[in-house]
Amino acid sequence: MTIINKDIFRQIFKLIKSYDEIVIARHIGPDPDAVASQVALRESIKLTFPNKRVYAVGAGVSKFKYLGSLDRVDYNSITNALLIVLDVPNFIRVDGIEGLTYNDIVKIDHHPKEDIEGTADFTSSDYSSTAEMVADLIFNTKLEMDKNIAECLFLGIVSDSERFLFKNTQRHTFEVVVKLIKDYALDFVALYDHLYEKSFNECRFEAYIINNLKITDNKFGYILIDDKIIEEYGVDHSTPSVVINNFNFIKELNAWCFITRDERNEIYKVNIRSRGPVINEVASRYNGGGHKFASGARIAKSSDIDKIIADLDKVCEEYLNIEER
Ligand code: AMP
Repeated sequence: MTIINKDIFRQIFKLIKSYDEIVIARHIGPDPDAVASQVALRESIKLTFPNKRVYAVGAGVSKFKYLGSLDRVDYNSITNALLIVLDVPNFIRVDGIEGLTYNDIVKIDHHPKEDIEGTADFTSSDYSSTAEMVADLIFNTKLEMDKNIAECLFLGIVSDSERFLFKNTQRHTFEVVVKLIKDYALDFVALYDHLYEKSFNECRFEAYIINNLKITDNKFGYILIDDKIIEEYGVDHSTPSVVINNFNFIKELNAWCFITRDERNEIYKVNIRSRGPVINEVASRYNGGGHKFASGARIAKSSDIDKIIADLDKVCEEYLNIEER
């Protein structure tokens, strides 16, 4: 892991200390890491500076309510805000800041850098999760933590590292997690229900994918899922994002992607995962991005479906060729 210049923690703390109004945002279509990070940081700032007005913004997702509630804010009442953006590298994917005027940005993110540049910028793809970065920030400054904050951060880390299976899990990830568990006496096994309880419909949907996934000679798996299937199995459009992680460690697959039609929004949502080939460069050509081994994209034209499949198959072929050398 690249050594982090600890001066970044001091810079972020100084900015937080100097503002009375702080808005904490994250990406659209949030996952547990994004919500856990913003709720944990909001609570930590409020605990440390009870007089500050701190808001965690963006569309709420009912299934992540266990992490804490989000805030509705009238931006007309905010005149001098610090904006903190978490878990997102590009302005176009920041949720809920339209109409907000801000003077400085703190950025904390573990995705590859894009157009957001923070006044204090803590960007590092070495981290498993943004929650791990927020925990590091709190541990290295005078920001305070309590058991609820520690639980949120633990859930964010476990979720985004896929239970410490993803390649960006580092020794440091475990060090942070051990500290959270020890210092705040977390009953961590009890917390797993929040992340891993699933419906039988979800299992049946996963079985459908297993039975219908096409696998190429290059160890690339793909499937097109239409609205009819989503309806038939009683799941929703966010379910493929959850189920896709269960396809890791299948011998016959080096990368796999689910392309889900969302008729109402007239797009195809693409989830891509890999355990070798780098996929985010392909995703970025199709209105997407993400990490080297976990990416997503949004396709508007059906003619691009065959193209993204061909491009991903190609990176799998290249990866196999290198492996065989
Ligand atoms: P998902 O498959 O939706 O769970 O996303 C996997 C990763 O890719 C996450 O880190 C997302 O932030 C990122 N990602 C997903 N969709 C997009 C997109 N349209 N543009 C940029 N990054 C994305």
